[in-house]
Amino acid sequence: MREPRLGDDIDDYCVRCKRVMNHSIVSVINQQPAKVRCRTCHNDHDFRHEQPPPPKVDLKKAALFNEVLKKVDPDEAVEVEAMAEADPPAEAAAAPGPMPKAKAKAKAKGRK
Ligand SMILES: [Zn+2]
Repeated sequence: MREPRLGDDIDDYCVRCKRVMNHSIVSVINQQPAKVRCRTCHNDHDFRHEQPPPPKVDLKKAALFNEVLKKVDPDEAVEVEAMAEADPPAEAAAAPGPMPKAKAKAKAKGRK
């Protein structure tokens, strides 16, 4: 496989044309195309190996989902639920009582 050179024709996905188009290599790093220019709309962008970028909306959603997943700890969720049932919110804020901490002592030993 011959190494790519500046100005070479190469197929890549163009975000502006929203399809795989003819591109020219405008930047080469480590014998790999780094940046290409669309021959149709002359848009410069990183070489994507003909892969369309993931939709931005999905990326945002995934990030948000991961944030929520990080915050939701199974033990914490149970604790919050128990507190809400035990004390009314106003009273709890005025005089914080001892937090009910139920630690499950379920030690399952693996059998062979
Ligand atoms: Zn284009």
